[in-house]
Amino acid sequence: MYEIQHLIDGQAVASASGNTGPVFDPATGEQVGQVGLASVAEVDAAVASARSASGEWGEVSLARRTKLMLEFRNLVVANADEVAKRLTAEHGKVLDDARGEVARGIENIEFACGLADALKGMHSEQASSGVDVYTVRQPLGVVAGITPFNFPAMVPLWMFPNAVACGNTFILKPSERDPSAPLFMAELFQEAGFPPGVLNVVHGDKVAVDRLLEHPDVKAVSFVGSTPIARYVYSTAAANGKRAQALGGAKNHMIVLPDADIDMAADAAVSAAYGSAGERCMAISVVVAVGEIADQLVDSIRVRMEKLVIGPGTDPASEMGPLITREARDRVAGYVQAGADAGCEVVVDGRDQVFDNDGFFLGVTLLDRVTTDMSVYTDEIFGPVLAVVRADSYAEGVRMIRDNPFGNGAAIFTRDGGAARQFQRDADAGMVGINVPIPVPVGYHSFGGWNDSAFGDTTMYGPEGLRFYTRPKVITSRWPDPSTSSVDLGFPRND
Ligand code: NAD
Repeated sequence: MYEIQHLIDGQAVASASGNTGPVFDPATGEQVGQVGLASVAEVDAAVASARSASGEWGEVSLARRTKLMLEFRNLVVANADEVAKRLTAEHGKVLDDARGEVARGIENIEFACGLADALKGMHSEQASSGVDVYTVRQPLGVVAGITPFNFPAMVPLWMFPNAVACGNTFILKPSERDPSAPLFMAELFQEAGFPPGVLNVVHGDKVAVDRLLEHPDVKAVSFVGSTPIARYVYSTAAANGKRAQALGGAKNHMIVLPDADIDMAADAAVSAAYGSAGERCMAISVVVAVGEIADQLVDSIRVRMEKLVIGPGTDPASEMGPLITREARDRVAGYVQAGADAGCEVVVDGRDQVFDNDGFFLGVTLLDRVTTDMSVYTDEIFGPVLAVVRADSYAEGVRMIRDNPFGNGAAIFTRDGGAARQFQRDADAGMVGINVPIPVPVGYHSFGGWNDSAFGDTTMYGPEGLRFYTRPKVITSRWPDPSTSSVDLGFPRND
């Protein structure tokens, strides 16, 4: 069994807290590792390191920062397979998915490589006679990121490359359930030549998070995880005078209009609902089938589900892996039972699929004729369960999205441009897909939901990320009239 350590001030540090968390291989159900959970003193050591590195790092030229970031990007590209392997080993997602996750993360490093252009300020010459006004964006100092289990490589990359590019130093507190991939990336970051202390990793649970939230030297906190914890992190950080952005859970709807390409919609629903075992904050969990297409759509989805291969993420034949823990699997299976008890039609029951090992596997479930009062509709299940709600009209579908407390993603499938355009205006969500089920923005736009899916006023990465990790300073300057200068400028001003 391996031991996962912190990375503080450029050194691997074993936790002395006496508290540990188990790390499983979800495909076998075996505990394969153990992670030390940080004490308050260990978090303080990481903050002290980040603080002492921050003065010098903030002074490093844009050219040097760019060079180091390019080097990091190249190292992650060269080691992408190794990062993916570690993701699959502890998270369970299939290798193809894991590689996709790394590729999406690399987009964020590449955006951060453009820091010199992105950090250009604004300048107004001659705002008044002899007066210039300009705005520069300066780093905050020490910032922290707290990330969820479901994208252990990508979500940290939403944060630290941009934060460091802006001149901050960073403390990453990754999910304790699959901590090896983010730690490996931090080692690559170090190898790229970033000075010790610029990026520190502390593993931990609530103790570590609470210390980061209250530590006076941490100036800002980025969080991604479930809604209750996002709300807590946002309000606690704000109460402690910190800048905070906290992304939460989701219940993403996909409206399928009667004119949609059914095959395209069914393919999209299957990959977006069951990919990564439904453990994606942008997974589709509700299909709203409008009008007469419902029967055909449900049938098309069912047929595709029968072909889905579920197995260990390391097996190239597998299209879906296990869930993250035994408890998560049992909780999701409980929702399937709750749906059946509430009276919806269980078209495919994932519990019927038998797996001949102790991995945290669960088959895929399709529930039809779900109504909006059922727990399978109201709750974020975060597993391979897709609910179909039948609606009579587009308006009814939009109403459901608006009435839902979450607002991460929403998608529409239609061939009608006018309907699609109307939807992009009507949908109460931060990210909208038009014939695209999982509209995760590219690295040069920004990611974030609305309502209970995000707390704070900036979304993550891209231009919004840079805004979050810098603070503006406006300089108003006046110099004495050149005619009074002791230096003869020798150039007539009105020439
Ligand atoms: P989680 O909220 O349980 O954990 C997220 C982080 O918070 C982890 O680092 C964890 O150690 C820490 N944490 C957990 N409990 C805490 C507590 N009581 N006090 C302080 N810190 C605590 O989330 P998870 O299960 O790791 O991830 C799944 C959730 O994340 C889902 O709800 C999913 O929708 C959401 N998510 C959202 C996005 C998004 O961009 N909106 C992206 C990925 C995941």
